[in-house]
Amino acid sequence: MTWQPLDCHAHTTLSDGALTPEELVARAAELGVRPSISDHVTRDVTPAVQSIAAMRAYLDDIEHLPVARSAEFCWHDALWREVPDELALRFTHRIGSLHAVFLPGGGTVHAFRREVPKGMTHDQYMDIHVQNLLRFTLEMPVDILAHPTVLPLTFRAIPLEELWSESRENRAVEALRRAKIAFEISNRYRPHERFLRKMVDAGVRISLGSDGHSLEQVADVAWPLAAARSLGVKDEELYDPHVHGSKTGHFGGKPARPV
Ligand SMILES: [Zn+2]
Ligand SMILES: [Zn+2]
Repeated sequence: MTWQPLDCHAHTTLSDGALTPEELVARAAELGVRPSISDHVTRDVTPAVQSIAAMRAYLDDIEHLPVARSAEFCWHDALWREVPDELALRFTHRIGSLHAVFLPGGGTVHAFRREVPKGMTHDQYMDIHVQNLLRFTLEMPVDILAHPTVLPLTFRAIPLEELWSESRENRAVEALRRAKIAFEISNRYRPHERFLRKMVDAGVRISLGSDGHSLEQVADVAWPLAAARSLGVKDEELYDPHVHGSKTGHFGGKPARPV
């Protein structure tokens, strides 16, 4: 059996994707990629899996399929803290996303909206973003940080190298390394090379993610795989829950730690 890449991150009609779970499996097979289903489990995305009861039904729906069973949980929506161990253990791996970050004075800034507090500069935002990322690595028992370079729409015209200063990158590298959380190479939100190289050099596990929501996107991990290989990551070192394991149990219920 030759090695095939694992797409750790993709969506179906069980949340906001366009393909049914069966169509996703078929598409991945066409591309020679092993599939995961990782629909949104959060009250912040519509449609999504929005309750513990719905999460149980979601796992029932995908457990008979030849897929890795995952979910993408929003850091800023506390639903992930309520997941009982009995359900947490049914996932092969779990993904966390900073779709929004908490502001020190209360409230959030959302990555897929334009609004930021009046007068907030990208430097001020990025310091808050990195503080949230550090808390995320301490509190959220996930295996993968999804699309690590997604930032609020209003700052996306600024080069990633400038937003992520080297000192911010270094803090993120150390936090992910300590927490044993994989850094996703997203096909849709591609990280800059300097950041990725630091992760690889520090021994942070790398995962491949199409973050596909459509036929064109699902299981397309060609660019992430090429990027990993170009930095010397061996295929068998890429994150695979069947090989490298997953965080087990105690998904929720952890008290928030002050930063
Ligand atoms: Zn996401
Ligand atoms: Zn996603």
